[in-house]
Amino acid sequence: MENSRFGRRDRLMQEERHDTYKDWGKLPEPTLCGTCGSLFQNGRWSWDKPPVKANVAVCPACQRIADGYPAGQVEISGEFLRDHRDDILNLIKNREGMEKEERPLERIMKISDTGDRISITTTGVHVARRIGEALSRAYQGDFSYQYGEADKSIRVSWCR
Ligand SMILES: [Zn+2]
Repeated sequence: MENSRFGRRDRLMQEERHDTYKDWGKLPEPTLCGTCGSLFQNGRWSWDKPPVKANVAVCPACQRIADGYPAGQVEISGEFLRDHRDDILNLIKNREGMEKEERPLERIMKISDTGDRISITTTGVHVARRIGEALSRAYQGDFSYQYGEADKSIRVSWCR
């Protein structure tokens, strides 16, 4: 299976570090992310306009980006990709835009395009799965995903 490629060491590291990005429940409200401007209030993150007085911190998504530590990974490959690269990339970016609007912690970190393969890392598990679902819905193909320990990470693959 796809998963064996990612190795055991990777998984162990995730288990040790997984709580780092989930501790926002302890943040005072409201808290504003000084990096991206998202706002933590009423137990959730949004793009609402911040009140005049807000605690300032770094949100979990920006922290993951700073650490280079993604929650999601999407691998896209196949013949079809070669001929439809622009359409596929547009679809991915649109999908991310929709997710990010609703959930500020769900973003693309990086898109690596090597020609026969596109690898995408994300700050959240949700957006990675949504990208795979959107590709599958638009173009069929082989779509699969696998959650890591306690659903805190996800590997998505789509091939056509
Ligand atoms: Zn942020």
